Amino acid sequence: MLDALQAEASVCRRCRLHSTRTQVVFGVGNPHAELMFVGEAPGFHEDKQGYPFVGQAGQLLDQLLSGIGMTRADVYVANTLKCRPPGNRDPQPDEIEACEPYLFRQIELIEPTMIATLGNFATKLLSGKPTGITRAHGVEQRVTLGGREVLLYPLYHPAAALYTPSLRTVLEQDFARIPALLARGAATPAAPLVRAAQPARDPVAAVPVLAAAAAPEPVQLGLF
Ligand code: URA
Repeated sequence: MLDALQAEASVCRRCRLHSTRTQVVFGVGNPHAELMFVGEAPGFHEDKQGYPFVGQAGQLLDQLLSGIGMTRADVYVANTLKCRPPGNRDPQPDEIEACEPYLFRQIELIEPTMIATLGNFATKLLSGKPTGITRAHGVEQRVTLGGREVLLYPLYHPAAALYTPSLRTVLEQDFARIPALLARGAATPAAPLVRAAQPARDPVAAVPVLAAAAAPEPVQLGLF
């Protein structure tokens, strides 16, 4: 099933990015993973090699995984956009909209109990809320995705920690909670089917486990 979806995505022309990509970067990893990571979009190396997170940010992701005793083989890694935006510019809203059915279908097929979003774009899409990563990181929330309840866990994008080294400690601290959160997810009985794969856009379907402080939203710059 995931293979069929990948084959369909590989010839996708739903948005302008098909004309500048080398290839579609669908996603990779354990198709039965409990934990799925969702990043932003392929960069230069991902576009060339066809796999997500194979550049510097990917090396940091590997180190962070290793720090909690996990490897890529334990998880599934995908992106919000499956094609590289030229010059690594931000994903545009119409590109996200065109591409999101692939991500939602991946989530439906993989059935992770927990999804760690890396950075603003994945976090806003899958939470269905505008809260940026500066406030949302490290705060787990229950959302309904693919007709199932999933623990959504927003994290800074590893590239942000490459640009701003102090964020690496924050990322490590947020990663350190993943094993306990995974155990919690596994212990949660399956939620009843609510609806087909859609982001949880209404506030009732996405109740934060810990309410974020009602502080004004800091200015959001790309990965932050
Ligand atoms: N950044 C992302 O968000 N995804 C990748 O695959 C690589 C870098």
